Amino acid sequence: MAEAQKKKEIPHIDIYRAWCKACGICVAFCPTETLARDEGGYPYVKYPEKCINCGWCEIRCPDFAITVEGKKNGKKVRDQFEKEGPEKGTAAPGQ
Ligand code: SF4
Ligand code: SF4
Repeated sequence: MAEAQKKKEIPHIDIYRAWCKACGICVAFCPTETLARDEGGYPYVKYPEKCINCGWCEIRCPDFAITVEGKKNGKKVRDQFEKEGPEKGTAAPGQ
């Protein structure tokens, strides 16, 4: 059964490690668990395909260390995500 799935563009998330203090705020606020922390506590993009491009990580970072390319209206995107759950194509492999 062929499921018509629109190919979702994966947002580019840039983490500037020199400015990052590994506080974990971005990871805590990410609604889709796109981000995770490494052994040193620094964030990394674990599931890029889960990113809904809400920009919350960027907005919440106190050190301007993370940017999301072409972020959308974060509140609108996040509200929709919380209401409807992950849209098709946002699930991580194996989920
Ligand atoms: S843009 Fe939103 S979904 Fe994507 S990594 Fe940042 S907080 Fe998570
Ligand atoms: S919120 Fe900013 S400073 Fe804190 S871990 Fe994330 S990128 Fe680093």
